[in-house]
Amino acid sequence: MVELPVSLPLALQNDGNLEIVFLGTGTAFARRLFQTNFLIIKGDVHVLVDFGMTGPQALQAVGLGAQDICTILPTHSHADHIGGLEYLSLLNRYMAVPAGAPKLKMIITDDYRPVLWDMSLRGGLEYNEENAEGKSLSFDDLYDSYAPAYVSNNPRKVFSIDYHGIKLELFGTNHIPGEAGTPNDAFITYGLLIDDRVFYSGDTKFDRELIDMYADRSEVMFHDASLTPNQVHAWIETLRSLPEDVRKKMYLVHTQDNVTDEDTALFAGLTKQGIRYIFPSV
Ligand SMILES: [Zn+2]
Repeated sequence: MVELPVSLPLALQNDGNLEIVFLGTGTAFARRLFQTNFLIIKGDVHVLVDFGMTGPQALQAVGLGAQDICTILPTHSHADHIGGLEYLSLLNRYMAVPAGAPKLKMIITDDYRPVLWDMSLRGGLEYNEENAEGKSLSFDDLYDSYAPAYVSNNPRKVFSIDYHGIKLELFGTNHIPGEAGTPNDAFITYGLLIDDRVFYSGDTKFDRELIDMYADRSEVMFHDASLTPNQVHAWIETLRSLPEDVRKKMYLVHTQDNVTDEDTALFAGLTKQGIRYIFPSV
């Protein structure tokens, strides 16, 4: 993995290598860091993974605006991951599309689509106008959706999609409620394996089974880490119990504002905003 500083504005195209840029690396409550949302860029294709309440400002910090975003992949319905979606969607429909841009594309499983629409997005998006059939706006009026294919449910739900050359494997994580025994009992939350080489834990409690499932397939693992014991996120102390070969490929993310490089001394490092993480073709 090569790390380069972001130059402004961040280019949403590259020479074809897989590139990951974190717009934010903080928790839901972070004030100094932006919330953990990131871009996957490869060739002419980009996917924005999550867009929380700090999303618009975080995009501005890399010289972009929401109208520049073509594709979104929401991992779960907490506001630090979808709190900017209404903004993104309305800006697309009322400003970008009339100016000639395509409709926003969303990568979302068939399981999660009705949950996201009915329980979070409808309230602000359904009633703006009537669609061409004279009905309230629906999910399909706002988004072209791409559903990852179901792969398996053992030991957790896994889906996959090849999105214009970016291979995405979505897996269920055990995040909320904290008492859920397995990812399949929990609120819908996903993590990702990107191009069969980069792991992103999504929001999750410490889950050794998940780490064991993906460690060998991952060159780099970006993992949720809380500096303090937490019911719904992985406490850094539990991550310190992992074997050294796993810790040495693990970059911590979704951290509190006061995280230091010292906290991450036993790991590959701390995930940083303003860095292009580039994975050259092998
Ligand atoms: Zn969450």
